[in-house]
Amino acid sequence: MYDFAIVGGGIVGLSTALALGKRYPQAHILVLEKESNWAFHQTGNNSGVIHSGIYYKPGSFKAKFCRDGSRSMVEFCQEHEIDHEICGKVIVATDEQELPRLENLYNRGLENGLTVQKISPEEVKEIEPHVRCVGGIRVFSTGIVNYKQVCLKYAELIQKQGGDLRLNTKVLTISASGKNQVIETNNGNFETKFVINCAGLHSDRIAKLGGVEPKAKIVPFRGEYYELTPEKRYLVKTLIYPVPNPDFPFLGVHFTKMIDGTVHAGPNAVLSLKREGYKKTDFDLKDFAEVMTYPGFWKLAAKHADEGIQEIIRSFSKAAFVRSLQKLIPEIQAKDLVPTHAGVRAQALMDDGKLVDDFLIISGQNSIHVCNAPSPAATSSLEIGKAIASQIPHQSHLETVVIA
Ligand SMILES: Cc1cc2nc3c(=O)[nH]c(=O)nc-3n(C[C@H](O)[C@H](O)[C@H](O)COP(=O)(O)OP(=O)(O)OC[C@H]3O[C@@H](n4cnc5c(N)ncnc54)[C@H](O)[C@@H]3O)c2cc1C
Repeated sequence: MYDFAIVGGGIVGLSTALALGKRYPQAHILVLEKESNWAFHQTGNNSGVIHSGIYYKPGSFKAKFCRDGSRSMVEFCQEHEIDHEICGKVIVATDEQELPRLENLYNRGLENGLTVQKISPEEVKEIEPHVRCVGGIRVFSTGIVNYKQVCLKYAELIQKQGGDLRLNTKVLTISASGKNQVIETNNGNFETKFVINCAGLHSDRIAKLGGVEPKAKIVPFRGEYYELTPEKRYLVKTLIYPVPNPDFPFLGVHFTKMIDGTVHAGPNAVLSLKREGYKKTDFDLKDFAEVMTYPGFWKLAAKHADEGIQEIIRSFSKAAFVRSLQKLIPEIQAKDLVPTHAGVRAQALMDDGKLVDDFLIISGQNSIHVCNAPSPAATSSLEIGKAIASQIPHQSHLETVVIA
């Protein structure tokens, strides 16, 4: 019998287990992960950026958790000697039309309590000598890390707290058993008092298994990356971002120096025909049919048909991808880039065609469901974990009794 069972061993599930173990040291905590390693999906295939929180609507969970989370992530890395670097980043406008949006972003950064600086094209060149732009913003607190390493440390600490971590264990059904719940998996059944769904790309399905209707469907958007050849890494010193399209939660293809010294370019954002579809040819009939029969998808597609088509072209045409990157660094050539990994974002979409902008955490009967945790959820993970642990109704039977 467990007090808490967490579905999903990505960064959100593991940080939640860590936070629950701190709040209730006596609790029996179980984490169920269907893959053979932690951080196998979104967490292990992301850009590795510790985001500052500049992009997000002031007052939103994203803005708060990201600003606080970037600090707690850095402290965590320092405490546990995980390689990371606060290298800062530049966001640059490549034509005059982008300048008002850059100004809005600068103001948003200030509203979100960040240290941001407007910089001229010449000042951008002092930081990133190969960038061509008409203006920029410098964001000082942005950093880089390998989130897989962070997760391995989370897992180690959960185990030290006495948590039960199960890999290769896929949740199949969830059913009520009196006041408790029975989770059926391919590796046996587990009984628990409380379920926490952190299943990323499958979170809407797990929510339904747990009797909750999330009112939004997960739509998978693949992000493909290229890597700069080693002899061209000198073109990028830190992180270089364009001004994003405010209609989308994606940041536009950018350059990221990774913590291992490689430089990645991307990710784009193209509809994936499979929830865990990392290759362009990956296809799953159930996943595909669910998207195609979802009214919200067609409303989104009708509104953003042009952007969607451009993304598909950029996915199949390296030349188109390179053209986007050349807006930032004109001297980049196709031969300087080799394809590398891809990640798939779990983005919740409502049936009215609106992408869920903020983190979405829904409470059910003895359960909590994280139904939208896209970027910057890796940065924010320690704060999301703490928020989930405090959202759980008080478990008085787990309180430590101090006898004076
Ligand atoms: C391309 C890309 C770039 C990104 N870049 C950044 C970045 O630079 N910085 C940042 O902060 N964020 C970034 N993000 C976002 C960040 O990676 C995610 O927000 C975060 O990893 C979400 O974590 P998660 O634990 O919710 O999901 P996941 O990491 O996907 O974990 C969910 C887990 O649930 C498991 N699961 C699902 N169904 C079941 C089941 N039935 N039974 C058992 N287990 C199950 C899955 O196997 C998976 O391991 C990026 C994301 C992508 C895709």
